Amino acid sequence: MRIVLLGAPGSGKGTQSQLLIKAHGVPQISTGDLLREARAQGTPLGQKAQAAMDSGKLVDDALVLGMIRERLARPDAAQGFILDGFPRNIAQAAALGILLLELKQPLERVLLLNVDLGLLFKRLTGRRVCQDCQRVFNIVTSPPGTLPHCTQCGDMPRLVQRPDDREEVIGKRLEVYEAQTKPLIEYYEKAGLLRVVDGDADVATVYARLQAAMQGP
Ligand code: AMP
Repeated sequence: MRIVLLGAPGSGKGTQSQLLIKAHGVPQISTGDLLREARAQGTPLGQKAQAAMDSGKLVDDALVLGMIRERLARPDAAQGFILDGFPRNIAQAAALGILLLELKQPLERVLLLNVDLGLLFKRLTGRRVCQDCQRVFNIVTSPPGTLPHCTQCGDMPRLVQRPDDREEVIGKRLEVYEAQTKPLIEYYEKAGLLRVVDGDADVATVYARLQAAMQGP
């Protein structure tokens, strides 16, 4: 399985990737997660990425491509991969195409998680991450009256908001998606790789739709 999960911030790429890796045994490669890790470790790459990330802009292509090249060369990616949050613009998509040609691992499908803007905003403003186990919760879309419960950390997970999920940054991230990432839809449609999945449903339903889009024509 060699796929790209395409979709706006908040479309559910991360959540669905988690389910796909369990079912298919291939790694999820999320450039956002890799960048957050680099920042947490205070590496030079993390430091360089910081300003762009905090303001909702894209990190420099060369940095991201170096990171992806290194990650795809690791042995676990030889069996396949789910790319989440990469590519984010046409230049990255073109570079990815060349890299995968070199690795003799062409993409099989690009799955677009389609979610409308109002819902994206709601999901992003409500998103919280458990500081200890990194599980993602949503205080807006979870059923009312239920306190977020972390299966690993118990009833009192230490939920934090990602700095770039603050309302003032979300607008910028969605703007960047519209201007830079959305053109990838046409790019991959022309390549015959794109399948569109309606992402406006509960997690299990969207997952079933993704599976169908992966296996269907
Ligand atoms: P994400 O978790 O995918 O929403 O990514 C969080 C932030 O990391 C983005 O807003 C960007 O600043 C940066 N980022 C993640 N992936 C990429 C990418 N492929 N290219 C450039 N910047 C990225």
